[in-house]
Amino acid sequence: MTPGTRRAGDMPPEEFRRLAHEAADWMADYLGGVGSLPVLAQVQPGDVKRRLPAGPPERGEDPELILADFRDIVIPGITHWNHPAFFGYFSISGSGPGILGEMLAAALNVNAMVWRSSPAATELEEVATDWLRQLVGLPAGFEGIINDTASSSVLYALAAAREVAYPEVHRNGLFGLPRGRVYASEHAHSSIEKGALTLGFGQEGFRTIPTDDAFRMRPDALRAALEEDRAAGIRPVAVVATTGTTSTTSVDPVDAIGPITREFGAWLHVDAAYGGPTAIVPELRPLLAGWEEADSVVVNPHKWLFTPVDCSVLYCRRPQDLVRAFSIVPEYLRSADTGKARDLMDYGVALGRRFRSLKLWFVLRYFGRDGIVANLREHVRLARAFAGWVEATEGWELAAPVPYAVVCFRFAPAGIGTEQADALNQRILDRVNAGGEAFLTHTRLRGRVVLRLAVGNVKTTEAHVARAWELLREAGRAEL
Ligand SMILES: *Cc1c(COP(=O)(O)O)cnc(C)c1O
Repeated sequence: MTPGTRRAGDMPPEEFRRLAHEAADWMADYLGGVGSLPVLAQVQPGDVKRRLPAGPPERGEDPELILADFRDIVIPGITHWNHPAFFGYFSISGSGPGILGEMLAAALNVNAMVWRSSPAATELEEVATDWLRQLVGLPAGFEGIINDTASSSVLYALAAAREVAYPEVHRNGLFGLPRGRVYASEHAHSSIEKGALTLGFGQEGFRTIPTDDAFRMRPDALRAALEEDRAAGIRPVAVVATTGTTSTTSVDPVDAIGPITREFGAWLHVDAAYGGPTAIVPELRPLLAGWEEADSVVVNPHKWLFTPVDCSVLYCRRPQDLVRAFSIVPEYLRSADTGKARDLMDYGVALGRRFRSLKLWFVLRYFGRDGIVANLREHVRLARAFAGWVEATEGWELAAPVPYAVVCFRFAPAGIGTEQADALNQRILDRVNAGGEAFLTHTRLRGRVVLRLAVGNVKTTEAHVARAWELLREAGRAEL
């Protein structure tokens, strides 16, 4: 006989209470002590799988055993994005209030596909995204929809753009219609090309625009591309301006790109997945000038607004364009409320939706405008301080301007060839990351390997950034 318990029905409430308290204690200890764990999981491919049974249990297992395996097997295989010295990719973090919202949403487990399937989830999404709209200073009229990721958000924005550029597409598809194109800078996120591919424009339907010496889209090059394509009979569908690109966080000049986009009748989407929250900080707001003229904007609270993944807000000036692209209401979902309130299923591909607005609402209420400004301002200050140390140190150099809180830099001591310097920087990165005290990633700029330090975690202090700099310099000396 298999040991274990034959279970019918759910975990009894008293057992849930005891285990939930245990889990809450674990979470509080974890969040308080994550800084002393290795940032990068110290495991090899296959290590986690090897420690787990190949098949599921026949009988129910003791929850204490499940929690013990979570601590002993899962946790060592985690790269800790919550670690205050996580400086890789885009440093993100959840936050206490965000985690509480996520837990409660899991307990409710509502599915806000139509208004009546969860009125509060539907309406709180309107309220929380409108609060965020006010915080970032987008004009009234932009309506927010929460998606899982910015990749989905841009796909939906481009679907709306396609609907406008090809009114006949909803019925006939793109078959037989003139070719169309989506434009973005050569530093734009890969999700834009993916979106264009998914929507049937093909790789030929995506054109990258060259950038200037600060990695920003060149408006003159955009105009030239649009003119050339128009002469060739290609329909301009959408232009995507990025405010905070993925490699360097460069900011495309939206105020110059907007009027050109209009002139050619295309949809303007602003990818502010990363940079959007900085509009809350008065001195950073000017970088986003012109975004208020966009047709759609994406801002990711799960990136730099302390909201646990996943939570991406797509703002649309005319949400009806989005609804036209996606609305097909099957009979079994029709009710007396249809048309009286928002039915979130009409704004994208997914029917079911998690109650994502709850955690965003908790975050906005807990921190308030002041708290958000203080955190973002501090991150930018830390990144600029780090950039200053790099610039002041012999052999080290900045590889891009620092508009926000990501620093691209490189160790290139005199007498070292460029190829050698690429390998050297890669070795420095590997050495620092293997140590487990800090985690950084790299990118390539103009063909050269460049290290990136991304500040964005709500727990990061100057001491963490200073220690990363010390580790980098030590690694530089050791690897030279
Ligand atoms: C992070 C990022 C994305 C992708 O975001 P996901 O939510 O992971 O899909 C897209 N664009 C920019 C500019 C980003 O920084």
